[in-house]
Amino acid sequence: MSDDRKCSDCDGELREVRMIDTGHGDVHHPMKYAAADAKQRWTGYYPVEGIVKGFMCQECGLIRIYGIPTE
Ligand SMILES: [Zn+2]
Repeated sequence: MSDDRKCSDCDGELREVRMIDTGHGDVHHPMKYAAADAKQRWTGYYPVEGIVKGFMCQECGLIRIYGIPTE
C-alpha cells in the first residue's frame, strides 16, 4: 500500500489504522470481507475474499476503508 494517501476532505495525512471486529467474547479480529451474495459454509463462516484496511486522517478523523484481496 502506498503511504502517500491524502484525505479527500481536508488534504491531511492519512495514517493506517487497524480495523477490528469483536468476535466471540472479547477477542478482536481483523475485519475481512466476503462477496455480497456469499453463502455461509457449513462451518458457519463466509468464504473470505480479502481483508479490510483503514486509513484515518490525522487532521479531521475521516476514515477511508480499502479492501485488500487475499489469495
Ligand atoms: Zn481530513
